[in-house]
Amino acid sequence: MPTALILGASRGIGHEMVRQYRIDGWRVIATARKQEDCDELAQLGAVAHQLDVTGAESIAALAWRLDDEQVDLAWLVAGVYGPSGSSFPTGPEFDTVMHTNVLAAMRLIPVVGPLLADTRGKLAVLSSKMGSIGARHSTEGTLYRASKAALNSVLADAAITYGAQGVTCVAFHPGWVQTDMGGAGAALTVEQSVGDLRATLAKLDASSNGSFLNHDGEPIPW
Ligand code: NDP
Repeated sequence: MPTALILGASRGIGHEMVRQYRIDGWRVIATARKQEDCDELAQLGAVAHQLDVTGAESIAALAWRLDDEQVDLAWLVAGVYGPSGSSFPTGPEFDTVMHTNVLAAMRLIPVVGPLLADTRGKLAVLSSKMGSIGARHSTEGTLYRASKAALNSVLADAAITYGAQGVTCVAFHPGWVQTDMGGAGAALTVEQSVGDLRATLAKLDASSNGSFLNHDGEPIPW
C-alpha cells in the first residue's frame, strides 16, 4: 500500500487530500497543529501527528516520529495569506507569513526528502501563481506573493538536492479554490482542485523535476 504524507491537513486542501487518498486505499500520514484536528484526521484513518510548521522543536519532534518511514508522495500544504493590498507589511506580519510559507519549507524539506529517496518518490509544495514573477499582473497581496516566490526558490533547490537521489520535486498552483483562504466565490471546489492535483502528480516522472505547474499540469512561468 503506497504512503502519502500530507503536511497541513486540518482543513481546506490538505484535509481534502487526506480524504481522497484514504478513499483510494492509500496509507496516509497527516499533520495538523491542533490535537483536536489530529483526532479528526485519525477518524479518517490517517496516522496523525501534531505539527506547527513555524516551530523548530515541533519539526524536530516530527522528524523523530517519521524516522523509520518511507513515503511515496509528500505534499507540503500549510500556508497563510497575510495582509491584502499592496502596501509593505509590518514586521510581525512579515515574520508570520515568511515563517509559515518559507522557513517551514526550508526546515521540513530536509526531513521529508530522505523519506522519499528509497521509493524514488515525489515531493510537491503548494505554491501559488501569485508567486510567479514571470506572469505577474497585479500587486495584491504583496507579502504573500514574495513568500510564494521565495518558496519556489526553496523548491528549486530541493529539485537539485533530492532530484539527484531520484525524487521528483514540483511546485503547484492549486487554482483559486473554495477554502477559508480562497473564499466561497473561488473558481474551483476543493474536491476539483485536489482531484486535479493528485491526478497530475501521479502522471509526472523524473523529467518534471524542478517544475512549477498549474493543478491541471500546465507549466507556469517562474
Ligand atoms: P486554508 O486557509 O483553508 O488552510 C490553511 C492550512 O494551513 C490549514 O490546515 C492551517 O492549519 C495550515 N497552517 C497554517 N499555518 C500553520 C502552522 N503554523 N502550522 C501548521 N499548519 C498551519 O488554505 P488552503 O487549503 O486554501 O491552502 C492550502 C495551500 O494552498 C496554502 O499553502 C495556500 O497558500 C495555497 N494556495 C491556496 C489557494 C486557494 O485559492 N485556496 C490558491 C493558491 C495557493 P490551522 O487549521 O491550524 O490554521
